[in-house]
Amino acid sequence: MPRRPIIARTVPVLRKTLSPFRRKGERIALVPTMGALHQGHLTLVKEARKRADRVVVSIFVNPTQFAPNEDFGSYPRTFDTDVKALAEAKADVVWAPTPQAMYPEGFATRIAPEGAALTGLEDKFRPHFFGGVATVVAKLFTQVQPDVALFGQKDYQQLQVVTQMAKDLDLAVKVVGIPTVREKDGLALSSRNAYLSAAERAVAPVLARVLKAAAQRIKQGEPSEMVLEEGRAEIARAGFAVDYLEARHAVTLAPIASLKDGPIRLLVAAKIGKTRLIDNLGV
Ligand code: AMP
Repeated sequence: MPRRPIIARTVPVLRKTLSPFRRKGERIALVPTMGALHQGHLTLVKEARKRADRVVVSIFVNPTQFAPNEDFGSYPRTFDTDVKALAEAKADVVWAPTPQAMYPEGFATRIAPEGAALTGLEDKFRPHFFGGVATVVAKLFTQVQPDVALFGQKDYQQLQVVTQMAKDLDLAVKVVGIPTVREKDGLALSSRNAYLSAAERAVAPVLARVLKAAAQRIKQGEPSEMVLEEGRAEIARAGFAVDYLEARHAVTLAPIASLKDGPIRLLVAAKIGKTRLIDNLGV
């Protein structure tokens, strides 16, 4: 039986749990999640183990990054299964704050990220999102004080926003991005894939397929706007409503048309039925 990780639910308990590690000079890694763990999350834990002596995984479905019309209430919550998977993955601590521990009565401070957070991608469709993410991640970094924090490239804009925030606020944490873990047919693993009907699941790999084909064509010198327009049409034909399919500078996320102007990342978001999926790929 793998050893169950220590579960902390309040900041004092978390501090008490981590202080012996710190006293011994052990390196601490943090993997922030919203739970409903899949192989993508567990890959982050595995990578964390390579980079630190102790691995803390936070599980917190953060209310402030959901708009009232979004899926906060129905977001999958599978805490007991998550803890078992984290025991197998040899995580040391599960930081699962209660909502009161994270946002006590009278909480009144919010981080307002700019730069990559205001590039008209996720922020255009979820205007509240990166403020909520930056605030909760800043709190997680302060609570855990990790040496290294691992994030998935799956949420590419989020990764850039968090990297910039850590730099801007002089937080002593190294933010590391880990490549997206995919199903065999290319679909990026996501807790929200659980919402897909069988028919929707069958067409969902179109996102990854279009990204891959578009990246190849842009690399070969085809004009990106034409390639992207065809990609949007293909995704729509599969039954998705496309929020965006864009070519952006891989770091600043500013619009970019050609590889001559810097590294390109293709980013897509689209909705099928009730489920909104995102994905991205480097050119
Ligand atoms: P979430 O629980 O969805 O907020 O995700 C927690 C962390 O896991 C974030 O850093 C995500 O980018 C990362 N993540 C989610 N899906 C994947 C995936 N398919 N591959 C790699 N990382 C992922």
